[in-house]
Amino acid sequence: MQKRHLAILGSTGSIGTQALEVVEANPDIFEVEVLTAQNNADLLIEQAAKFRPNVVVISNESLYDKVFAALDPLDIKVFTGEKSLISVVEMESVNMVLTALVGYAGLIPTVAAIKAGKHIALANKETLVVAGELVTDLAQKHKVDILPVDSEHSAIFQCLVGEFHNPIEKIILTASGGPFRGKDRDFLKTVTKAQALKHPNWSMGAKITIDSASLMNKGLEVIEAKWLFGLTPEQIEVVVHPQSIIHSMVQFEDGSMKAQMGLPDMRVPIQFAIGYPNRLKSNFPRMDFAQFPSLTFEKPDYQTFRNLSFAFEALKVGGNMACIVNAANEIAVAAFLRDEIGFLEMSDLIEDCMQKVSFVQTPTLEDYIETDKETRRLALAFV
Ligand code: NAD
Ligand code: MG
Repeated sequence: MQKRHLAILGSTGSIGTQALEVVEANPDIFEVEVLTAQNNADLLIEQAAKFRPNVVVISNESLYDKVFAALDPLDIKVFTGEKSLISVVEMESVNMVLTALVGYAGLIPTVAAIKAGKHIALANKETLVVAGELVTDLAQKHKVDILPVDSEHSAIFQCLVGEFHNPIEKIILTASGGPFRGKDRDFLKTVTKAQALKHPNWSMGAKITIDSASLMNKGLEVIEAKWLFGLTPEQIEVVVHPQSIIHSMVQFEDGSMKAQMGLPDMRVPIQFAIGYPNRLKSNFPRMDFAQFPSLTFEKPDYQTFRNLSFAFEALKVGGNMACIVNAANEIAVAAFLRDEIGFLEMSDLIEDCMQKVSFVQTPTLEDYIETDKETRRLALAFV
């Protein structure tokens, strides 16, 4: 297997730190070339001292001096500034980019990495939500793989290995239902961020944890799946599966279904993406069926969790609508985390933006950048 020379964008986050665990356990397969972080300078310095990349990026410019002082003596270059994420993914020594940063900020570096011919291990689902058509077309043109890290999409990908010649009839994306499964709108009106930040099965960054509570995460994943696997909205079904053991399923045209399962542990899909096509031996905990006497399934509540409906609507409308949904949601989640709006108001804000932001049917990259800006302006006015 050709050694993977990794740029890990967002190395200090939940996905980034788990990816480094995988790297550490497989030093003959992975080499870290680049690590990047927004604010957590201390952890970035610690990671760099351990994994000895060529370059690190600290996006928050006010922390540059601190990181430089710590890493220059170790001969590690330190970059900051708007263009730094672009220049590091283009580096000759990098052959794979793990996009583990959160939100719209992933789009431009991912586009740059694809254009530079680097394979993408994609955790940053927002990139495909914002500009799925553009990004997947670009990947085809540059013969670059986009390997999913998201557990559901990894599950589907794992079910498809050996089946690429067989058409998909449909996929079934599983959802845990989050901390508010079974709750009604009256209950949700008054929930706090502390309640929303308690996910039953996964420990993740704040933004995706709120998205999981509002089912926006599943909505974003529906859109992500469309672009990764070339599906129509009718071919994507969501089913709530509270135990998070089956990570998703594929149904083929003969009616047969494949599911991928295991304990909820993001290191498994991270490792499958960066180690593909090999399954690397791991010491992660194994599942004991006696601990899971029943695996259950139910329909999602689209009336209460409107964000999931918005995502399907955005897919049907096409154009820049999913970009609008994403930007509105990023502002909504940030406002909810600052206690400025209520839980249900996040959906009101997204709906408002979907109605008011200028619609573009065949957007260019510049159109997406403009749409993102316009939506953020409008959404901030709402807050
Ligand atoms: P996180 O908040 O824990 O970490 C985010 C990382 O990105 C940090 O290293 C941070 O420094 C960096 N970052 C944040 N904003 C940035 C910006 N504007 N510019 C540059 N860097 C920035 O997030 P996470 O939970 O690790 O999620 C990362 C991505 O992976 C998200 O797109 C999320 O949807 C996706 N994902 C996460 C999980 C999970 O289990 N955490 C599962 C599936 C998908
Ligand atoms: Mg997921």
